Amino acid sequence: MENTEQYRVLLYYMYVPIENHEEFAAQHLQLCKELGLKGRILVAHEGINGTVSGTFEATEKYMQAMKADPRFAEMVYKIDESEGHAFKKMHVRPRNELVTLRLEDDINPNELTGKHLSPKEFFEAMQDPDTVVIDARNDYEFDLGHFRGAVRPDIRNFRELPQWIRENKQNFEGKKVLTYCTGGIRCEKFSGWLVREGFEDVGQLHGGIVTYGKDPEVQGQLWDGQCYVFDERIAVPVNRVEHVIVARDHFTGEPCERYVNCANPECNDKIFSSEENEHKYLRSCSHECRVHPRNRYVAQHGLTPEQVEERLAIIEESSTLA
Ligand SMILES: [Zn+2]
Repeated sequence: MENTEQYRVLLYYMYVPIENHEEFAAQHLQLCKELGLKGRILVAHEGINGTVSGTFEATEKYMQAMKADPRFAEMVYKIDESEGHAFKKMHVRPRNELVTLRLEDDINPNELTGKHLSPKEFFEAMQDPDTVVIDARNDYEFDLGHFRGAVRPDIRNFRELPQWIRENKQNFEGKKVLTYCTGGIRCEKFSGWLVREGFEDVGQLHGGIVTYGKDPEVQGQLWDGQCYVFDERIAVPVNRVEHVIVARDHFTGEPCERYVNCANPECNDKIFSSEENEHKYLRSCSHECRVHPRNRYVAQHGLTPEQVEERLAIIEESSTLA
């Protein structure tokens, strides 16, 4: 008998033409709600990209419903067990594109993309000295975990990547280029763009980091840290052989993989912080953020101006002692 209390998280995408994608999005939201799923799905004329959580039964029914639609029959799902829902709400959002690279001339990955490498092939290709591995994600995702030796593009956001590659092209010329991202969707476009830019040997990690971590043979080796995911779990393990922590506490520099958002609503930067330092530093990345009039930590904990002053004095004292 199936355990209906068991929850799962699905992650999936497919580049396939969807006509009237706004109408499709509205109907799809209906379907998801009827099944009791929660999560976030993007729908564009070029395809679908989603991550949803639900009971074993609900996720099973969802995959069956999608399989019955010829457009999505071949879609691959990354499935994680979960203790409950990984989202609070269900959203299906129509978008102009699934992945934003700010290209003058967009890439259709069904026509142009890099070589798809299995986890095993990627693992082996990574170790070739003529290979450069480029992380195709945002900076805060890289900082929580990444492939050992991978290049961290000096950008805030994935959409700035093409510009950055053009500016640093001399570092990659004549090399084999490998790219990877969480589930594979960003690399489908980005690796296609690299091919169009003239890179001759471009490979992409098929199924992304999430699939890599599940491969029974490779077992996530050569991955350091954890993988950032866009749901309430935030971090999931990848390397099953060894866990090397690469993230560092924003305040003390100690190994720390706990992400919090800066309590200054105008900053909201993701910073690594232990629970202890979160309280000590009012969950704020800087003095400016700590004294911001709308600081969320101060509001949540009902701190009076005097109490904030006291905390600031303690921080001041400990920084001069150090
Ligand atoms: Zn801040």
